[in-house]
Amino acid sequence: MQAVTEWFRSAFAKSAHTPRVSGGVMAYEILVEGREPIEAWSVCTICLQVDRTASVRRRRWRCSDCSSIGDLQRPLPEYLDEHSIDTLDKDLKEWGNAKGVRAAYKMLKSARFKCLITLNRRRQPGAAEG
Ligand SMILES: [Zn+2]
Repeated sequence: MQAVTEWFRSAFAKSAHTPRVSGGVMAYEILVEGREPIEAWSVCTICLQVDRTASVRRRRWRCSDCSSIGDLQRPLPEYLDEHSIDTLDKDLKEWGNAKGVRAAYKMLKSARFKCLITLNRRRQPGAAEG
């Protein structure tokens, strides 16, 4: 578990992207470290930024990272139900091969994929913690 957080931190450190307070590295750290239940969070289906569902439900909410509007947010547990570990793994590989994407954004979204995979693996029945 620690390794994922470290990896994520270093991905951010190398990226030119400036993490926002709500949806930057901190948000995923909270989830990966299990400090808050994933039920309280939503994910942007475009850039995979997470934000608290309470914020997402605000009127005229926009993803602070990619500017998608609220409709493109899904509750995190629902997103993980629809995206199995295998699916996320496949999406991550496809994203890694995407052309014409800024290197910083590619690294950032890859880190988010890895966090989602970690979170989904943890939800599997009988999954070993860590
Ligand atoms: Zn977004």
